[in-house]
Amino acid sequence: MERSYVIKPELGKAYPKISHGKGIYLYDQDGKEYIDGCGGAVTASIGHGVQEIADAMVEQARQVSFAYRSHFSSDAVEQLGAKLAEWAPGSLNWTFFVSSGSEATETAQKIAIQYWQEKGYERKNRIISRWMSYHGITMGALSMSGHVMRRKRFTSLLADYPAISAPYVYRKPDELSIEEYAHKRADELEVAIRRIGKENIAAFIAEPVIGASGGALVAPAGYFERIREICDRNEILFIADEVMTGMGRTGKPFGINHWNVVPDLMALGKGMSAGYTPMAAAMATDEIIETITKGSGLIMAGHTYSANPQSAATSLAVVRYMEENNLVEKAAVHGEYLLAQLKQIVADYEMVGDARGLGMLTGLEFVKNKETKESFAASVGVGTRVLQRAFAKGLIIYPAMSGADGLVSDSIIVAPPLTITRDEIDRLLGILRAAIEEVQ
Ligand code: PLP
Repeated sequence: MERSYVIKPELGKAYPKISHGKGIYLYDQDGKEYIDGCGGAVTASIGHGVQEIADAMVEQARQVSFAYRSHFSSDAVEQLGAKLAEWAPGSLNWTFFVSSGSEATETAQKIAIQYWQEKGYERKNRIISRWMSYHGITMGALSMSGHVMRRKRFTSLLADYPAISAPYVYRKPDELSIEEYAHKRADELEVAIRRIGKENIAAFIAEPVIGASGGALVAPAGYFERIREICDRNEILFIADEVMTGMGRTGKPFGINHWNVVPDLMALGKGMSAGYTPMAAAMATDEIIETITKGSGLIMAGHTYSANPQSAATSLAVVRYMEENNLVEKAAVHGEYLLAQLKQIVADYEMVGDARGLGMLTGLEFVKNKETKESFAASVGVGTRVLQRAFAKGLIIYPAMSGADGLVSDSIIVAPPLTITRDEIDRLLGILRAAIEEVQ
């Protein structure tokens, strides 16, 4: 084996080398074909090897790839900003560009805190978040994240911790209706605000559909409406973390569009550039940006690669491609089919307890006992074994495992490119079934 000096996710493991990709398929250098059933990390949402995107990238590189944002704006950046304002709900018209989802949530966190400072509220600087959530791996983003496994080595460096639990409909107490459960979970925010004091809180952050730490956990109807109402009553901003759910993934432009709610800030990433370049953003409302403009006039955030023309042109080409190919609508239609098929898998296999999701962001949860919903005790989780078997068979799916409050969600995410066809979904599910059969 060739010697490697690259630090990989699992040290000591030999990874296949990627050769190329086309559509939903990836090919390694040994010629093996894989269905990219999760767009890598729910990222490659328009599929691989799209010629139009490659052309736009080359064209921008010929013109100029990098010009620093404090010296220049660019057509690509301006047009992408205008496009996102069209896509986003309400007056979320303003975009701050960064390069990763973690930077996006941290930037949203910083803008929220700065907004209150500009209004004279110096102490409003805590962010309330939820257990079983994931907002990124950098320290600010990890502080807000409820992904216990990713937090635990760094707790001494984290500024904060989640204050409330997230709705987990599969494990809802039987005696509560969905509506009662939605209110009960949302009301935890009210309790936390009373405990911490609204004068100390800048914002509440949540993923509309919980991804990495829950496996496509969809908030129940009424939940986010109640959250919005609690935030408004207590003068707290609401940040929707749309890094995984944004840009059409759930069958609407943004995950939060499934509820009758407009956030004050949104974090975007992943599907924004569909993996063709690192690109992410924090979006803010007119009210927030006007307040800061009238105040200090300067947002205290940003990175070297923020708003670089190369990434902006790439992302703009991706968004245009999505529009031209109606990918948001396709995600809704194919997502319904995918979820129905996953529910059939729940019916067919003893160890699959739940199938859930919205659009093309779906998940399966594995349990030891379907009646009691008891999880398997294995530390790696059954989901990990299923995805290892699937990988060997040429299907890539994403792990979503988390423990909080003594609970473990032993889940996987199935989130293929939004361009997938129904026949390709069937092929994907055939391999998934074969992998489950090998593990059970
Ligand atoms: N927020 C959510 C909801 C995510 O799913 C992720 C990544 O999985 C992030 C933030 C962090 O994004 P990145 O890995 O690009 O920093």
